[in-house]
Amino acid sequence: MNPLLEDAAARAARYLDGLDARPVAPVPGNLAAFDGPLPEGETPAAEVLALLDRHGSPATVASAGGRYFGFVTGGSLPAALAANWLASAWDQNSALWVMSPVASRLEATTVRWLGELFGLPASVDGGLVTGTTMANVAALAAARHALLARAAWDVESRGLFGAPALRVVVGAEAHASLKKALALVGLGRDRVEVVVADGQGRMLAEALPPLDERTILCLQAGNVNSGASDPFEPLIAAARSGGAWVHVDGAFGLWAAASPAHADQVRGVGGADSWATDLHKWLNVPYDSGVVLVRDGAALRAAMGGSAAYLIEVGPREGMHHVPDSSRRARGADAWAALRSLGRSGVAALVERCCRHARRFAERLEAAGAEILNQVVLNQVVVAFGDDERTARVVETVQRDGTCWAGTTRWQGRVAMRISVSSWATTERDVELSADAIERAMASG
Ligand SMILES: *Cc1c(COP(=O)(O)O)cnc(C)c1O
Repeated sequence: MNPLLEDAAARAARYLDGLDARPVAPVPGNLAAFDGPLPEGETPAAEVLALLDRHGSPATVASAGGRYFGFVTGGSLPAALAANWLASAWDQNSALWVMSPVASRLEATTVRWLGELFGLPASVDGGLVTGTTMANVAALAAARHALLARAAWDVESRGLFGAPALRVVVGAEAHASLKKALALVGLGRDRVEVVVADGQGRMLAEALPPLDERTILCLQAGNVNSGASDPFEPLIAAARSGGAWVHVDGAFGLWAAASPAHADQVRGVGGADSWATDLHKWLNVPYDSGVVLVRDGAALRAAMGGSAAYLIEVGPREGMHHVPDSSRRARGADAWAALRSLGRSGVAALVERCCRHARRFAERLEAAGAEILNQVVLNQVVVAFGDDERTARVVETVQRDGTCWAGTTRWQGRVAMRISVSSWATTERDVELSADAIERAMASG
């Protein structure tokens, strides 16, 4: 065996074993150890690895453990992490089939399985990207292509200058990354028509303006605070009759579709034209990993295509024609491994377990006198501990305590703690220990 890789595996295993006993909060530690001048000469790899472990491991956030509830952050399923290591050793470039038949096939199968899992049309095509932000970019580029092609305008060739105007309709609670994606594809962050949302952040179907064949309607599965999803059935029906393109940002909320117990939250979502979701959130594969899925694969490939004489296209599927990137790691390996290890029922169980934990948090904290500000319909809990100052104080105390970590947000005009249960690693004991810690913080001020 290669002693360096054995050492790396042993250090990684020790790191994971130690997560339960260490504070979850960020601790900067001795990060100055990484500075200093660029060395003139070589350092043995074993020594470099030891330095990273000694000074780096303690300065990580323990988000791979079971008591990290910040943002919407998954851990790494054992099968996904192991596959990620193997695939790193493979060091494949998944741009073209000729560069890696296995990467091409794993990506194709992952895309197909995800489409089946979410109940999307059989025609769905897509590709693996860094996360939902880039998935939104790719999907919006496909939408832009399709709507302008109908107007006989080749946007990839001519750009948007002088093109027929496109309308973009978003909900008042659209995620910041969707706006960034709109900016990147030239549709404009603020050049949008905004539809009002209800108290859970869901777009109000009655407030939807008339839509036409020059409109992209951007919907959301899973509000980043409340976890609530837009009412897809009426919204998509309206878009269909107007000829609009419907895009769904479903970074984590789309995973409700994979659970019979929660699929109702996103009923009708399969009627959209494109979907963006993360694999590093609820599927619990290592960072970074997301997927773009498009009903009309030809629109995606037209928007993402590109060629050069040296790019040999001989395979059944060329990854780079489905995503913005050319060279990429083989993201399909860890995503495929996660899905292969869980199966359909395992994914459903993962989603349902996280949602059950979220309901338990809400139940315990409410019983302890906290105020739950959202309907806990998925894996998100938004909590206030009194007025804004007190809530901020309690969250700070929780973070300093280090048993668990959750961040703050502003929800319906109030400062709140935001608990997101997204990790496969979270157990019932983790929830009880974390709720204990939050209650201690409430009692202390
Ligand atoms: C997390 C999230 C995103 C952004 O995803 P990244 O993986 O960080 O690019 C977009 N939309 C929603 C609703 C999210 O929760």
